[in-house]
Amino acid sequence: MPQNEFHQQTMGQQAHRLSWAEPYKIKVVELLSLTTRAERQRAIKKAGHNTFLLESADVYIDLLTDSGTSAMSDRQWAGMMRGDEAYAGSRNFRHLEKAVRGVYGYQHVLPTHQGRGAEHLLSQTLIKPGDYIPGNMYFTTTRFHQERAGGTFVDVIIDEAHDPKSEHPFKGNVDIKKLSNLIQKVGSEKIPYVSIAGTVNMAGGQPISMGNMKEVRALCNKYGIPIYLDATRMVENAYFIKTREEGYAKLSIAEIVRAFCSHTDGACMSGKKDSLVNIGGWLAVNCKELYDEVSNLGVAYEGLHTYGGLAGRDMEAMAIGIRESIHYKHIRARVGQVEYLGNLLREWGIPIVLPVGGHGVFLDAKAIYTHIPQEQFPAQALAADLYAESGVRTMERGIVSAGRDAQTGNEKYPELELVRLTIPRRVYTQAHMDVVAESVMSVYEKRENATGLRMVYEPKFLRFFRARFERLM
Ligand SMILES: *Cc1c(COP(=O)(O)O)cnc(C)c1O
Repeated sequence: MPQNEFHQQTMGQQAHRLSWAEPYKIKVVELLSLTTRAERQRAIKKAGHNTFLLESADVYIDLLTDSGTSAMSDRQWAGMMRGDEAYAGSRNFRHLEKAVRGVYGYQHVLPTHQGRGAEHLLSQTLIKPGDYIPGNMYFTTTRFHQERAGGTFVDVIIDEAHDPKSEHPFKGNVDIKKLSNLIQKVGSEKIPYVSIAGTVNMAGGQPISMGNMKEVRALCNKYGIPIYLDATRMVENAYFIKTREEGYAKLSIAEIVRAFCSHTDGACMSGKKDSLVNIGGWLAVNCKELYDEVSNLGVAYEGLHTYGGLAGRDMEAMAIGIRESIHYKHIRARVGQVEYLGNLLREWGIPIVLPVGGHGVFLDAKAIYTHIPQEQFPAQALAADLYAESGVRTMERGIVSAGRDAQTGNEKYPELELVRLTIPRRVYTQAHMDVVAESVMSVYEKRENATGLRMVYEPKFLRFFRARFERLM
């Protein structure tokens, strides 16, 4: 199988090279802005050392996120022209519904303005105060909505996920023992559902295996607990199952996605990731009664059940993007580019989370800024330094993102203190990846001179988006 050869080649075990060349050519370009170091130093200071507060015009290569930053295809743009902007019953909604049913296999589809809209509706409908929601590591907005609804998130991911050096091929797996212990402890009636993400963003884009998913399903069946999937990067997860898990090499990406989703009862989706659009999401479930409930709430928060906060043209672009996303050549090039960057950094001895994830490369800030204690936000400082060095924008995934404990208000000290270099889909070239790697190297070489930060403004919710910092001297 070519994908196995590719995999071996990226693992450095094979002499001849098999390239993952982009399965598209460029038709429109957007010029990049180049700034001077002095300009960047002013810009990052003005932004309170938070890369979320930088102006896009001051950024050279933008690796802040892969969310909504994809380049759409000519087919998607053509689809935008075919938007049916009827308030109700848009033809584009039917296309979206068909794509979700066909690719992910869920029966009832509700469009939402983006992924968090779906999370909101699902959490408000299923979670009661005092409930527990186990998951394979938290995601910021997912946990936020679970807690807002009165639930407590419980991390049941395997320990390897918290160890940036562990090369476990499926660091997104659920620790079955942790999950069953929780069920024993609180009782299945206190667990409205298990929240599964594929791939796991906060662990570094790490996949969950099909085998593990089946085990989770078997355990949940025993207690009658449903499973809801965060399908945001499920296609990337399917690629890892195909290339890493025994027995799946011959299956298509589409077959793997369908099989995986068949072990779950529904999903929240941010179309801004896998589905190659700039805005959009959906909530899909198999249970008709649940669908009726979430659509009732959806009318108030998102929009009528056939548009859910999206224009007809957005739904059309997403329907087309869903189908493009499951092509093997697409996903191989997508993950291949991420691995290319990761392998460069790894060869140069820069500490990163291993294995390289599906949507980004994660720098291990604790291992780079060893002299900066976690209270002084080493990952936040590293992201700011990388921007000042080169204009490359990244983001913190560490103590700032983890936020405070919802009950006690105390700081959480996550084991992972990372800087995420997230690669937008179909946007940058291999030469851009070289420049990024060189920029990281320059900052790495100067690491001993780096200083930490002090938080001077802390928003109440999801603080990483808008917090401000000052440099400690
Ligand atoms: C982005 C993301 C979400 C939220 O989706 P939005 O479209 O940004 O609201 C949920 N889960 C994961 C894993 C994500 O990466």
